[in-house]
Amino acid sequence: MSLLDDVNRLKQEALQLISKADSLERLGEIHVKYLGRKGAITSILKGLKDLSLEAKKSVGAAANTARAELEENLAAAKERFGKTTATVSFDPTLPGTSSRIGVIHLAKQVIEEMCQIFYGMGFAIARGPDIESDYYNFEALNFPPDHPARDMQDTFFVEGNRVLRTHTTPLQARVLEQQQPPIKIITPGLCFRNEAISSRAHVAFHQVDGFLVDEGVSMADLKGALVAFCKAFYGEAVKLRFRPSFFPFTEPSAEVDISCLLCGGTGCQLCQQTGWLEILGCGMIDPNVLDMAGIDSEKYTGYAFGIGVERTTMLKYRINDIRLFFNNDIRFLRQFK
Ligand SMILES: [Zn+2]
Repeated sequence: MSLLDDVNRLKQEALQLISKADSLERLGEIHVKYLGRKGAITSILKGLKDLSLEAKKSVGAAANTARAELEENLAAAKERFGKTTATVSFDPTLPGTSSRIGVIHLAKQVIEEMCQIFYGMGFAIARGPDIESDYYNFEALNFPPDHPARDMQDTFFVEGNRVLRTHTTPLQARVLEQQQPPIKIITPGLCFRNEAISSRAHVAFHQVDGFLVDEGVSMADLKGALVAFCKAFYGEAVKLRFRPSFFPFTEPSAEVDISCLLCGGTGCQLCQQTGWLEILGCGMIDPNVLDMAGIDSEKYTGYAFGIGVERTTMLKYRINDIRLFFNNDIRFLRQFK
């Protein structure tokens, strides 16, 4: 059998394999077998140099034609696979793609929950501006002129005598000016401080402040309200501890710790082995604050408290980075439905 016959036989064989091929992988194998570096047609082309001039011409021409024809067929077959896989995917009987429904931001959810608890205890809600005057943010709340919070380091100052409020307590001063006791208000809202952003601190955070002014209000009323709130928010088992503290607008002042949510008080990493977690500041409203708002501090007393929303939420849901609240990463937000 001559080489010319070999070329034709190999070509027919390859064309038949291509027509039967059922995958792109199979086409690749056929290419290697006939046209690859050691393929059958390639070997014949490589051996041409040893042939007579006449044989070189006829076999060479036939082998080159066979190669071109196979390449063309392989390419056409490849295209066929590409198209079939692309067009098969539409099935009108399948259900459509539904659009995603968003979730309420975790901080907002927690604020709502806190407001509901206080609402049940008879508190009304007051809201006010994010940009406050120096007067309501500091002066009316008994901050002395040289208080460190009034420093550029801690507060964002806006034009003139205005600041981005550093707490929602200014609303206490505003409400006290406009209403007469009994007054029972909570003030949820966004606050700002000039902090270095880290896993524990951010320039923005939410606060739920609350206060009550009436005749004969005592520290025992404050304690009763906060115990009721913490049991509703963290569960019946939670214990509270009041530690003396200092705030310009309350006297006496206290910070409140709750028994650790993770270890229950025996000591763990979350509570840094103390068994307690600090959650809020509170105290009896300083008589100066009442007097400045035009409320008779001889007749009336009141208490106030301030809860940091992100901090409380981080403890409740074991979130280890406050920046997650502000990154708008839906992978984080979607976890809290
Ligand atoms: Zn603990």
